[in-house]
Amino acid sequence: MIGRTILLNCCENWILQWGKFYEDGKEFVCLPNSHPWRKEKRNRYTNLASSIVWTVDSLKGYPFLKPEGSTTPPVLKRCCSEILIKHGSEIPERCLPLQFECPVCEAFCSVELEKVHGLFVRLYTTHANNNSETFRLREEATPPFLEPVFEPAPVA
Ligand SMILES: [Zn+2]
Ligand SMILES: [Zn+2]
Repeated sequence: MIGRTILLNCCENWILQWGKFYEDGKEFVCLPNSHPWRKEKRNRYTNLASSIVWTVDSLKGYPFLKPEGSTTPPVLKRCCSEILIKHGSEIPERCLPLQFECPVCEAFCSVELEKVHGLFVRLYTTHANNNSETFRLREEATPPFLEPVFEPAPVA
């Protein structure tokens, strides 16, 4: 999708927890992956790799970062991502496929099984703003993250 902006969980979690303690103008990295950032005035953060400025926002009290000036939220929001990363692999296989609504942003998320080389892999799809996108969990990564699957996503 054109113009889609993805913020990695490592950076988003780091900034939401620790960003407010940096002085304005201070350069820093997210500790898990050393992605470079700079703190700007008024709780804004520049990603030094992409030059995109992110601002802190919240929905029902749940904090997240959004690109400055953007009106369309990302397809995969921090709330959905956190829920799927923490709980997606706990869902028993007999309950799949499963669809649920994110309690924070009310996006529909689905979890299903796909057979890849004889093994079942969990696919996670989020549906928001008439778009859907499918992800696989990279659980061996530190910290784990959802990686987009680039085939066309099934429409629920
Ligand atoms: Zn990062
Ligand atoms: Zn959500």
